[in-house]
Amino acid sequence: MTDALLIRNVRPSGGDLADILIRDGRIAAIGPSLAAPGIPTEDGGGALALPGLVEAHTHLDKSLWGMAWRPNDSGPRLIDKIDNERRLKREINIDPARQSARQVVLSVSHGSTHIRSHVDVDTDHGLWGIEGVMETRAAYADIVDIDIVAFPQSGLLRRPGTLDLMDRAMKAGADVVGGLDPCAIDRDPKGHLDAIFALAEKYGKPLDIHLHEPGEMGAFSFDLIFERTRALGMEGQVVVSHAFCLGTPDRDLVDPMIEQIAALDIGIMTTGPASRPAPPVKRLLDAGIRVCSGSDGIRDTWGPYGNADMLERVMLVGLRNNFRRDDEVELAFHVCTQGGADIMRLEGYGLNVGAKADLVIVAGETITHAAVARPPRRMVIKHGRVVARDGVCSRIAP
Ligand SMILES: [Zn+2]
Repeated sequence: MTDALLIRNVRPSGGDLADILIRDGRIAAIGPSLAAPGIPTEDGGGALALPGLVEAHTHLDKSLWGMAWRPNDSGPRLIDKIDNERRLKREINIDPARQSARQVVLSVSHGSTHIRSHVDVDTDHGLWGIEGVMETRAAYADIVDIDIVAFPQSGLLRRPGTLDLMDRAMKAGADVVGGLDPCAIDRDPKGHLDAIFALAEKYGKPLDIHLHEPGEMGAFSFDLIFERTRALGMEGQVVVSHAFCLGTPDRDLVDPMIEQIAALDIGIMTTGPASRPAPPVKRLLDAGIRVCSGSDGIRDTWGPYGNADMLERVMLVGLRNNFRRDDEVELAFHVCTQGGADIMRLEGYGLNVGAKADLVIVAGETITHAAVARPPRRMVIKHGRVVARDGVCSRIAP
């Protein structure tokens, strides 16, 4: 017997009422009143059917979700937060396996079907994070797909031994090579970027680089990223996360960067940050650039905010970009769905016949209405099976 499910009475992407027939984890048919005798049926109650939300940038290994509340008293600089977190990991036992499982269950309850997580690699904790998130990835493979980025959160070259650990993380099964502020943290932009590009080349894996550096400094790092992407033929395999420098008001600085980013098919991740300059989403999309979004850290030692709801992220990206019209809010929705799929190169993503059956069913008149009202997700479907119902995940977190 094949694994099948019929979802009746939904409106795919806000269109007319239809049924969605799923067979063997793929969408087999979409249409009104589909006949499917003997197949288990769910009633969508006229809700929207949307493709699974894509959490394309988070840190599963170090959320404090479900732990005792801990007031944040970290210092003001980036390096203060990095050092504070590294110290607290053992002190309060931020166990990566347990914490990633908790965040995964939370994410799935809100409709995320794919997650890209940066995971810390450093000389104090070695591969504790990578091993923990890999454990969660295997244990929860039935409800979500997880992409792991080996991330040198404490710097790469300023802490000798980290590069070797990054190599071991890739060997152990990380999917993406991470990087971090080559000027501001490592103070050796050439050394840092040469090292991570070499690692990506060695393992034949893509790159996803955290770049918080502002203005001219960020533009300089971008320039070095362009050089290496071009020289190594890595067009389409590099993502720059945050890219605050693209939010600089100086068009003479930003426009040539956008041109290069488009030419080299570099992807951009923005959370739509409230407190920092942010990449202009519409201008990037208009230039044909792949743009995705994510929650970044959720309730961690960096800050108390976040809930892993990518429909809420649609609102935050929309607010940051002054999106008001429905067609503009739909751009933010695109970034939190197809944009993430484009960045993570997901095969078979979408809401069409033949696509993988990874869906969210949520009440709302339109996509924009659902994104601003954000009712509990009526159903989340992964691999063609219901994995969350009325905002509650079918799996329980430790
Ligand atoms: Zn991050």
